Amino acid sequence: YARRIEGVDKNIWVEFTQLAADYKAVNLGQGFPDFPPPDFVREAFRQAVSGEYRLHQYTRAFGHPPLVKMLAKFFGRIMGREVDPMEDVLVTVGAYEALFCAFQALVDDGDEVIIIEPFFDCYQPMVKMAGGKPVYVPLRPTKDRSVSSADWVLSPDELASKFTQRTKAIVLNTPNNPLGKVYKQEELQLIADLCVKHDVVCISDEVYEWLTYEGAKHIKIASLPGMWERTITIGSAGKTFSATGWKVGWAIGFGPLLTHLKTVHQNSVYHCATAAQEAVAHGFQREFDHFGSPESYFLQLPERLQLKRQKLAACLSNVGLQPVIPEGGYFMIADISAMKVDLPDSKAQDEPYDNRFVKWLIKNKGLATIPVSAFYSPEHCKDFENYIRFCFVKEDSTLNAAEEILRKWS
Ligand code: PMP
Ligand code: GLN
Repeated sequence: YARRIEGVDKNIWVEFTQLAADYKAVNLGQGFPDFPPPDFVREAFRQAVSGEYRLHQYTRAFGHPPLVKMLAKFFGRIMGREVDPMEDVLVTVGAYEALFCAFQALVDDGDEVIIIEPFFDCYQPMVKMAGGKPVYVPLRPTKDRSVSSADWVLSPDELASKFTQRTKAIVLNTPNNPLGKVYKQEELQLIADLCVKHDVVCISDEVYEWLTYEGAKHIKIASLPGMWERTITIGSAGKTFSATGWKVGWAIGFGPLLTHLKTVHQNSVYHCATAAQEAVAHGFQREFDHFGSPESYFLQLPERLQLKRQKLAACLSNVGLQPVIPEGGYFMIADISAMKVDLPDSKAQDEPYDNRFVKWLIKNKGLATIPVSAFYSPEHCKDFENYIRFCFVKEDSTLNAAEEILRKWS
């Protein structure tokens, strides 16, 4: 096999999603809703596949025209700038493909890419497959017992020290997975200043952009001065419309930068499912028309999730699992150090504790979660092995079933 895939063969989702299925566990692991997407997008998809010809065939390589036009219109309004649908938008197979295209297009052999820990796990293998070198900088809790994702911050000096001659890009993820941190204006400004100073690209993964709670506000780093020209903003219809299986994502950015992602896309995936793109275009049109009104799904979903977030937090606190309350996204991490469990410690002493804990939890208690050390580099995962991640984009019945398991046990 090729050297570029050396050491990137393990995947947390493949492993833990299978384990959850094998044990028929109550699943608060992998991040997907167990309730349906809103009627208006399901109806749009039905319409799209009910026709006889056009939407069953290929469409434009870089994005179905109705969808790129809608994305340009929608994000142009949010950012208060003209976004060119043909130049500045690329539709991809989920946010995953947008990330992959960004790394392949922009990172050369030996280039450094700064990744903020904890990070969505795929950034590391993707940087490696592009020949790049991941350079890590951690968010650290400012308090001994952090209660909110806002307590986790970057050290400005430490961050600045990671920028070198070889730095090509930094990856930002706000709202963050797994922590739920929503970066504030000053925090983004710090990153933006360093990007401008060192001529670095920002790959901004914003798949949870609509999901913020209690006044936390999502800000696009691309809207900061000097950043449009150097930011690739990535989004996901899967997260936006609770339809993760549709695998429609996008990258939005300055045409001359984005064009290199198009080169990767046209020589690999070429284009994405036409009918799914058509349905997502309708979804955005509907949201454009209802923007800021109570009927907007982009308002309704976070309202609904805020209650689930409270419910899960209360349940975890009650059983002595200290949660870190997320400002955004649909995950919550919790400290497991208080749960004294005698794990059957086979041969796996070098396996992080949370990994072993989660496997035990699935097999013995029928509850699936995700170990947070999976969101750290191998160098640092042992320092953060006392947290596990719960997903709360679930029916109340699923959350109740999880609560029942935890209550019986504690
Ligand atoms: N980025 C983050 C932070 C994610 O949590 C996910 C998982 N949905 C993705 C990217 C990939 O998104 P998609 O399912 O659209 O490929
Ligand atoms: N993004 C989702 C999560 O964090 C799922 C990722 C995946 O299944 N590969 O749970």
